[in-house]
Amino acid sequence: MSLGDLRTSIAIVGAGQAAARAVQELRALGHTGTITLIGAEAHRPYERPPLSKAVLQGDGQGYTPVLSESVFAELQMEFIPTTRVTSLHLDEHRLTLSDRRSVHYDRCLLATGGEVRILPALPPGCLHTHYLRTIDDAQALRDRLRAGGSLAVIGGGFLGLEAAMSARQAGMNVTVIESAATLLGRFVPPDLSEWIASSAIARGIDLHLGQALRSAQAMPEGVRLTLQDGSSLDADAVLVAIGLVPQVELARQAGLALDARDGGIAVAANGRSSHPDVFAAGDCASQFRPFLGVSARLESWQNANEQARAAAAGLLDISPPQAAFPWFWTDLGEHNLQMLGLKSTDLNYVHRRLDADTHRGVWLGLRGGIPVHGVALNAGADLRALRTLLERQIPIDHRQFTDPTTKLKAWVQSQLAATAVPQS
Ligand SMILES: Cc1cc2nc3c(=O)[nH]c(=O)nc-3n(C[C@H](O)[C@H](O)[C@H](O)COP(=O)(O)OP(=O)(O)OC[C@H]3O[C@@H](n4cnc5c(N)ncnc54)[C@H](O)[C@@H]3O)c2cc1C
Repeated sequence: MSLGDLRTSIAIVGAGQAAARAVQELRALGHTGTITLIGAEAHRPYERPPLSKAVLQGDGQGYTPVLSESVFAELQMEFIPTTRVTSLHLDEHRLTLSDRRSVHYDRCLLATGGEVRILPALPPGCLHTHYLRTIDDAQALRDRLRAGGSLAVIGGGFLGLEAAMSARQAGMNVTVIESAATLLGRFVPPDLSEWIASSAIARGIDLHLGQALRSAQAMPEGVRLTLQDGSSLDADAVLVAIGLVPQVELARQAGLALDARDGGIAVAANGRSSHPDVFAAGDCASQFRPFLGVSARLESWQNANEQARAAAAGLLDISPPQAAFPWFWTDLGEHNLQMLGLKSTDLNYVHRRLDADTHRGVWLGLRGGIPVHGVALNAGADLRALRTLLERQIPIDHRQFTDPTTKLKAWVQSQLAATAVPQS
């Protein structure tokens, strides 16, 4: 059987966002061979973004599948849940599973995502300690949320803040401990970072910025945390949300190339790893980003979907679709934050303020007058209107952008027209 044949057998390791989208895309591209999907979790692929939002805010029950039951059945894959792939034998084109079975493949996709970064003082399983990556984690945390109770969140990143807002909504007394001096400072412009901090405080969240944890003690009735400045606080429960470690052990053991900077499995634009028959997608994969000019591992829902589409094409030796401009969203309480591109330290931010009272608006990070990073607070439609300017790196007149009376869509068209190459 020649590789690139639509009848090849494909094994997918991990049954999360990227895996599900890859199966869907493989079938859409005409693949008719067997697809074996092996997942460590007991569940069919489900969406993780609701875990820190709707699942914590609701009754903790139920979750959103990536593929509906009928679509899942139509795609005709062999699904092996509750099973880990323990090794990848490149020369034999074979996977070993935790139940000692073997799965042979022509081509393999690693969609193993990542694992929570562990705080040694409060490892998983420690009394009253929670981490948040899976639906089971979310349900366990939801069970601890009750009005008048207290939750300490270690880590003020997106996930920590989302969970803090959800817990606050459930009536918990919430404390967030963040070692950086600002909230989300690596992702948003300084004035927005300050606004996010003040809106968290206004919501009743007790914020400790620039404070690392010195020690933690789990006791029968709760957890005592001691901070760097010597102060201490008690909470009924603690959520550790200090980031993600890419799940690359199989790749490492098999000798696949990993990115030296971010530790992800190094892949080409079509998802191909350093072995021609092994591909990777999602949180575990590091790829050169044409829009950013660097290799990066992006931990986002959109990236998992887009890399899965590219890898599905790669698995079938079809040219991948053009890379999508990086997009990310989060909901912080009732506020929606969206981003296009990535922040870097050399950007000069301009702000289009749409509402003086609520800070609603759009920011563009400019490099030499060219927008390379866009951020919108409760203004996702405006950010969408700007996407082409960022994708095509069109220099803008920032005074017109910041003027709230400027009609955005018409203005974007005018900026594009001003730089269009005349037809001869
Ligand atoms: C709580 C939470 C909230 C989020 N909110 C947002 C948001 O608002 N916006 C946004 O853009 N992104 C958000 N994300 C990020 C987004 O969900 C992830 O980027 C996305 O799920 C990554 O998909 P993936 O397929 O790479 O990994 P995953 O969805 O994590 O799937 C990987 C799967 O592989 C399995 N696996 C790993 N190793 C093995 C093995 N050896 N054998 C078998 N199975 C294995 C894992 O158990 C897991 O089920 C959020 C993530 C979390 C956890």
